[in-house]
Amino acid sequence: MNRARILTFNAALPVLDYRVPEGMSVVPGSVVVAPLGPREILGVVWEEERLPGQSVPDAKLRPLRDTVPVPPLRPELRRLIEWTADYYCAPMSAVARMVLSSGGALRGPMTTTEYRLSGGMPERMTAQRERAMERLEGEQATIRELAEIAEVSDGVLRGLVNQGVLEPVVVDIDRSYPRAHPDHAEPILSAEQKEVADELVAAVEAEEFAPILLDGVTGSGKTETYFEPVAAALRMDRQVLVLLPEIALTEAFLRRFADRFGAAPIVWHSSLKSTERRRAWRAISTGEAQVVVGARSALFLPYDNLGLIVVDEAHEVSFKQDDGVRYNARDVAVMRGHFEKHPVILASATPALESLQMAESGIYRKLDLPSRYGGAELPDIKLIDLTEEKPERGRWLAPSLARELFARLERGEQSLLFLNRRGYAPLTLCRNCGFRFQCSNCSAWLVEHRFSQRLACHHCGHEEQPPETCPDCNEPDCLVACGPGVERIADEVAEILPDARVAVVTSDTLNTPDKAAEFVRQAEAREIDVIVGTQLVTKGFHFPELTLVGVVDADLGLEGGDLRAAERTYQQVAQVAGRAGRGSKPGEVLIQTRHPEAPVIEALAAGDRDAFYEAETEARRFAGAPPFGRWAAIIVSSEDEAEAREAAQRIGATQPRIEDIAILGPAPAPMALLRGRYRYRFLVNARRSAKVQEALRQWLDPLDFPRGVRVSIDIDPYSF
Ligand code: ADP
Ligand code: ZN
Repeated sequence: MNRARILTFNAALPVLDYRVPEGMSVVPGSVVVAPLGPREILGVVWEEERLPGQSVPDAKLRPLRDTVPVPPLRPELRRLIEWTADYYCAPMSAVARMVLSSGGALRGPMTTTEYRLSGGMPERMTAQRERAMERLEGEQATIRELAEIAEVSDGVLRGLVNQGVLEPVVVDIDRSYPRAHPDHAEPILSAEQKEVADELVAAVEAEEFAPILLDGVTGSGKTETYFEPVAAALRMDRQVLVLLPEIALTEAFLRRFADRFGAAPIVWHSSLKSTERRRAWRAISTGEAQVVVGARSALFLPYDNLGLIVVDEAHEVSFKQDDGVRYNARDVAVMRGHFEKHPVILASATPALESLQMAESGIYRKLDLPSRYGGAELPDIKLIDLTEEKPERGRWLAPSLARELFARLERGEQSLLFLNRRGYAPLTLCRNCGFRFQCSNCSAWLVEHRFSQRLACHHCGHEEQPPETCPDCNEPDCLVACGPGVERIADEVAEILPDARVAVVTSDTLNTPDKAAEFVRQAEAREIDVIVGTQLVTKGFHFPELTLVGVVDADLGLEGGDLRAAERTYQQVAQVAGRAGRGSKPGEVLIQTRHPEAPVIEALAAGDRDAFYEAETEARRFAGAPPFGRWAAIIVSSEDEAEAREAAQRIGATQPRIEDIAILGPAPAPMALLRGRYRYRFLVNARRSAKVQEALRQWLDPLDFPRGVRVSIDIDPYSF
């Protein structure tokens, strides 16, 4: 090749041509450094015919500067990048950026210097130094990262380095990972598990694309079962990716993995330190990494020879990315399996309706684990009708739920209360003038957090100190908290059961893997009697002594009525119910509701999953919603309200008429103000067969907008 077309990460100039200088050799997929004006940019060499661009005559081409010493991106990954960009109407450069910039400084040196406390003391102690030394206990990272952890300036830490309080450690980026062994500790599978595991192993050995829905009730041992095809891939020297929805869950998972395979897998998530990130990226690209466990972004890593992807808790909403490239990792995982020719296992006790439908129509294979491992029974589910049995004034737990909590405490068993609301109260209001605390950047109320003594926006992260007096009428002692959050429920439990040890489990309290691990340890050691938590507690956890689950407000998710409200409610309640009675003692679930007649609540009470899915299928079919039709959303936003509105109106004015596609809008989006941007929305509803992406591109691509306007497309949106 003496000329090369490259895909850059620059959205404005995504495709550029260069000359390949004498002595440099590049192939499609090579990662290269190229001059652009006075700067250098990274790019990936692409097949010219697959990447339309202006052809520049040879004489005018500037030479490439360098190649980056990483393996070229394989054609399978290049096809995945193309597919993702095409399907989600995203720029290819943005998808390629997810693949490469996730590797951090690809060109950096092969060693890096990190620092840790040496045990020495500074000559002079200051408040900042003291805080740094306290917070950096047990940490080792670069100065920049340590400064973030300790919340002090780099300068403070440099001072500590000069005085020998922080000592340097040279870290080799290419040092190897411990090897996992497929036969380290083989479990004895139940007959039911074995049958499924054998099929999964055969699928891995076939080395062909096979999408598989592993549909197993909570506690059936899905993890134990899918570890067998993981072992098979290890024996074949193929790489494995396990996607998990929540980093809070990885700790327990890592332990189980290490027990089974004798070494921890490689972990990949967005808050990885830069050294670890580079090390993992390189090991993945060379094939040294055997098993990667990660959040959705791990899907776009440059695996050398992937042989299996497992998406655990595949129904989870967190697999959907809602900014930048708006992809659904569950669906992209299946496409990656298609390009790389290996099986993809979607594991869940409450699969998405889309996945079930794929199984029904024969596109996915479905394997079932219908019973709990070790003879445990599924829990007994009862409804508490809050219109009949009212909690006391100022309380949220019905007397019968309180009695059951008390009984568990007496017997030394654990209980779990589920309420999907972080903080103390979702709304703070002035009793005197009616003033409500609202976020200045978002159309949302500020949520009171008592532990941290803050009013916080759950959409943009804005926080403020709660004032003593009402900011509007200046009256003292007039601010009241309205409605419950988990912190308030925890307070109520402490009042009813003063002796109980209560743990609040939310993304606020379990915000690092260490804290998550400590929680799991305490719960397993029975140092906790009552767990009060948000959706974080609905997944993955396995506590054998937990025998009671209380759902504080089953109606919460049904309000607002978005497309997936019923399905999400079903999944959350069924998953949290699945935490009860996983050991030898039977479990009981009490669901508080004001709508016992709602179909989803009835199905939950009856433990009749099929009834729920049938009703939901009919409702979706009727609405032309997925999986029977497609939805897409167009979000038009700007920091300037008028600018956003005008742009939306202009888009509306050019709205095409297309057969099989209905377009609704523009209307203010449900979050009409989000992170300081005003938002308008179009909803697109189309038949399954309609070419929605093509229609959207033809409609929107020719339009030009002022710089401050952003138009984003969300294909298969989760909430809009
Ligand atoms: P699920 O993910 O289906 O809810 P898990 O994989 O968490 O279920 O399994 C539930 C519990 O049963 C776990 O503690 C797991 O270790 C145990 N378990 C499942 N299968 C086996 C087995 N074959 N041998 C030993 N323990 C098992
Ligand atoms: Zn906000």
